[in-house]
Amino acid sequence: MLIEFAKGAGIALGHMFRYLAGKGSVTLEYPEVKREQPAFFRGRHRLQRYENGLERCVGCALCAAVCPSEAIYLEAAENTPENRVSAGERYAEVYQIHLLRCIFCGFCEEACPENAIVMGSNFELSMDKRTDFIAQKTDMLDAPEKGFGTPHDYDPFISHVTPESDKEAKADPWTKTGTEH
Ligand code: SF4
Ligand code: SF4
Repeated sequence: MLIEFAKGAGIALGHMFRYLAGKGSVTLEYPEVKREQPAFFRGRHRLQRYENGLERCVGCALCAAVCPSEAIYLEAAENTPENRVSAGERYAEVYQIHLLRCIFCGFCEEACPENAIVMGSNFELSMDKRTDFIAQKTDMLDAPEKGFGTPHDYDPFISHVTPESDKEAKADPWTKTGTEH
C-alpha cells in the first residue's frame, strides 16, 4: 500500500518538477485547448464533398449495410439536372447516425466506395437530450468551401482521404484504372 502511494506521489512530483522546469504541462486547458488527434483517430463522422461542392455520398447504403450496430439510416433520392446534389445518380436525401448505438468501429468509413463518410477528429459527444445523439446529415456535411480540396489542402487531422486514396478507391478492381467523376 505504502509502496503504491510512494510510486503515485513520485509520478505526480515528477510531472510537477517537469512543469516547473518549463518542460510543459501534461494537462490541457480543455475545452479552450483541445488535444490534436492522430490521423487514424475515429471521432465523429463527417460527410465530405468534392472540390466543386458536390456531395461525395451517392446514397448507396453500403455504410448502413456494413454497420454492426445498425446505427445508420438513410434515404436516397435521384439527382436531376435541376437539382444535382452529388456526383452520382443518387444522393442521400436523409442521412442519420445514431451516436448512442455507434461503436466507432470505422466499418462505414472502410466500406464507403466514394470516400464520403469519414471519421473525423472531433471527440466531443456530450448532449443534453437523447434525440440530439441522432446526428443529421446537416450535422455531418462539410461546408461547401471545405470540399475535397487540392493536395495542398489535405490535412491529416481533418481528413483521412488523400488524392491517392481517392484514386485507389475509385479504381476498377480488374483493370486498376481510375475513374473520374
Ligand atoms: S463507426 Fe461502426 S458502428 Fe459507428 S456508424 Fe460506422 S459502422 Fe456503424
Ligand atoms: S456514405 Fe458512402 S457508403 Fe454510405 S451511402 Fe454514402 S456513398 Fe454509400
